[in-house]
Amino acid sequence: MSDCLFCKIVKGDIPSTKVYEDEWVYAFKDIQPEAPVHILIVPKVHLDSIAKASEKDVKLLGHIQLVAAEIARSEGLEEAGYRLVTNIGEDGGQTVQHLHYHLLGGRTLKWPPG
Ligand code: 5GP
Ligand code: ZN
Repeated sequence: MSDCLFCKIVKGDIPSTKVYEDEWVYAFKDIQPEAPVHILIVPKVHLDSIAKASEKDVKLLGHIQLVAAEIARSEGLEEAGYRLVTNIGEDGGQTVQHLHYHLLGGRTLKWPPG
């Protein structure tokens, strides 16, 4: 998707602070962090959200979650805990229409988030 912000970030057309990258996944720091650690983890291929995922995406989605756990470990969050969340659609608070997981940690997070 040529007009998608996160596709542009994945391609390097828009700068970002990279945290992790592999064949399938790109992870970078959120521009407006809501916690001491706030990292976005996105698939390199465009997918609007988890609502548009299907059986063919199962391996990718599993991989993203394992990558998230690995990043959390490398950020030193494993012992204290952290949150991994993906927002879907308007009520879910999704503002960028390219699937992304927020990895949040480094402080006590409230639940429900509101
Ligand atoms: P959403 O609200 O869709 O779940 O999350 C989108 C996230 O993307 C927000 O936390 C927002 O701060 C972040 N974001 C928006 N534009 C940019 C950008 O240009 N660069 C980076 N690194 N993060 C962005
Ligand atoms: Zn995209």
